Amino acid sequence: MQLLDGKLTSNTLKDEIAKEVSKVLAQGGKKPHLAAILVGSNGASETYVNAKVKACEKVGFDSTLVRMSEDVSEEELLNEVRKINENPAIDGLIVQLPLPKHISEIKVTETIVPEKDVDGFHPVNLGRMTLNLPTFLPATPAGIVELLDRYDIETSGKHCVVIGRSHIVGSPMSILMARNAKVGNCTVTLTHSRTTNLEEISRSADILIVALGKPEFVTADMVKEGAVIVDVGITRVKSDKTKSGWKLKGDVAFDEVAPKCSFITPVPGGVGPMTIASLLKNTLISARGK
Ligand code: NAP
Repeated sequence: MQLLDGKLTSNTLKDEIAKEVSKVLAQGGKKPHLAAILVGSNGASETYVNAKVKACEKVGFDSTLVRMSEDVSEEELLNEVRKINENPAIDGLIVQLPLPKHISEIKVTETIVPEKDVDGFHPVNLGRMTLNLPTFLPATPAGIVELLDRYDIETSGKHCVVIGRSHIVGSPMSILMARNAKVGNCTVTLTHSRTTNLEEISRSADILIVALGKPEFVTADMVKEGAVIVDVGITRVKSDKTKSGWKLKGDVAFDEVAPKCSFITPVPGGVGPMTIASLLKNTLISARGK
């Protein structure tokens, strides 16, 4: 078994991005600039946004973090998005999800102009991805593709099973793995909570991508010998062994699954850092396009 080390790979990617930024600056260009909006004070969201801001600093980007209170109205949030849309100094905008129940996530996503939608969630960008046109690929699936690519994982003709059909991970992931591309050309099965024979399907996967948000859901008996496992899940579970009182768990029971597979992503240190690196890559592309 070999680890698909997202931390290491994302650091390589970040070094490449930082070099690109230095080149742009040496030619008199401007630093790429990412803006993030954080609504409320959800602990996990706070951690993710801070990691994104820190990553911007590391590669030499400017960043702006806009904090809004939990009870902000939908209209106020949309106005902030519109303001950033019109700000020529900002290249990319992300609104950290999830949002409070009274705010429509799709409305917010649709309000971000596609040219600054570096999370790749806007319907225009998802549509362009489906048509295999140049676009901002959704950050998590794009990070997974990059990781598989950098480890030279053979995907052509393989059976890829994706567990979870969210708009931000599972669904776009299934489309990317089926594309006619270097990482792609898989026969894809997209599964969800209504799938009846999940264990059997998952056992037939050469590549298993798991994104459902249920800690240690995938056990050794659901995995084929030699399979490639990508664990997207991140759930905070209580722990009396850490100072914070919680630790992160993936959707795969790592200890029992790892010995059975050829490659596997750890949690943390797998898909998470790759997501951030993809976000930076999209922001760089956006800045370059100006
Ligand atoms: P989500 O919106 O929470 O959706 C979960 C999906 O899992 C749904 O499609 C659901 O099916 C499916 N599901 C639930 N129970 C199932 C079961 N028993 N069998 C099969 N499918 C089942 O998912 P998400 O936003 O993609 O998040 C999934 C996990 O990934 C979470 O832990 C999240 O924190 C993590 N995540 C990590 C990153 C990263 O950068 N590493 C990024 C994004 C998300 P239905 O559609 O039928 O309800």
